[in-house]
Amino acid sequence: MERTLIPFSQAPVVERVETCLLDLPTVRPHRLSMATMQGQTLMLVRVFCSDGVVGIGEGTTIAGLSYGPESPESMQSAVDLYIAPAILGADATRVQALMQRVGQRVKGNHFARSAVETALLDAHGKRTGLPVSELLGGRVRDRLPVAWTLASGDTARDIEEAERMLDARRHRVFKLKIGARPLHEDVAHVAAIKRAIGDRGAVRVDVNMAWSELEAAQGLAALADVGCELVEQPVASAAALARLARRFPVALMADESLYGPASAFELARVSGADVFAVKVEQSGGLYAAQRVAAIADAAGIGLYGGTMLEGAVGTAASAHVFATFPGLQWGTELFGPLLLTEEILAEPLAYADFHLAVPDGPGLGIALDEDRVRHFRRDGRRARAAAPSSATGG
Ligand SMILES: [Mg+2]
Repeated sequence: MERTLIPFSQAPVVERVETCLLDLPTVRPHRLSMATMQGQTLMLVRVFCSDGVVGIGEGTTIAGLSYGPESPESMQSAVDLYIAPAILGADATRVQALMQRVGQRVKGNHFARSAVETALLDAHGKRTGLPVSELLGGRVRDRLPVAWTLASGDTARDIEEAERMLDARRHRVFKLKIGARPLHEDVAHVAAIKRAIGDRGAVRVDVNMAWSELEAAQGLAALADVGCELVEQPVASAAALARLARRFPVALMADESLYGPASAFELARVSGADVFAVKVEQSGGLYAAQRVAAIADAAGIGLYGGTMLEGAVGTAASAHVFATFPGLQWGTELFGPLLLTEEILAEPLAYADFHLAVPDGPGLGIALDEDRVRHFRRDGRRARAAAPSSATGG
């Protein structure tokens, strides 16, 4: 059958872009070296196209501005005031070209740009009947191993949580958030958890840049001794990471040092890490995350699929990207939706047998539960709070 290309002039265009903030509670406080999260805010983007297709995307950050340069509120205003005007009226089918145009007008703002790119790819996938993973070159796996982060701040509670995850066959790789307490207390915490889990699971730590280079050298040696297999971003600077790499029998992973292909190239050039935690939003989008992965591959650096603790939309987007990586030696940590008490999808993402199934429908392969989304919208809450109470008080 002969296939006719859509003439340029008849291609569907971006008609409208809408954003909203959703405030969702977490199952427990999530303690990191720089902040404790009591809830999570998702910035949702909807791109409405002239062919009736609507794409969705998500921008989410860990602990707002205490982690990085963007907050849900800054993402929303970047999309509303700068990114949306750059794509309105343009051919919605040319996602890379659209994002290039956005990049010319908006520097930085990786998370906001990633959310819009996600929505455009979701729309184009729905339009063509293809999953986003296929638009990105094709998946090499249908399910992804998923680690869990133990971050209650309490050793006994963390062990109990790990036992529950092992029993439920949900997670068997555990990442511990450390760095807020003195080094010897952190090492004792990691040792106790590894002792309790034994060979049933793996233990890794994330220091979120909290250590000096000297503390890191002491910490890496001690952590290797207690059976920790990987240490994530112990120090802030890429140069210090490079000096620490391969001095201790424990893998060193870069996270905060990676914020797109240029930083990945620089880190690879100085052999600054054994593993890259690729984060879609931090990389600057889905295409950029693939470029970061390609640099790691070429440099012989292992890959791990990281999370910004995104909700279901951002997690699905990341899953499509990570499904295309030829090597994913260290699995993923795409557990963001499991940290939230509320489901916002009509059909939840499928976690089973230590894995997340990559959705296989068109686009992201997910649908929002619009009633739930309406309920958790920040502006909806404000409107409800401002409205005079009804007779029933409902
Ligand atoms: Mg990290």
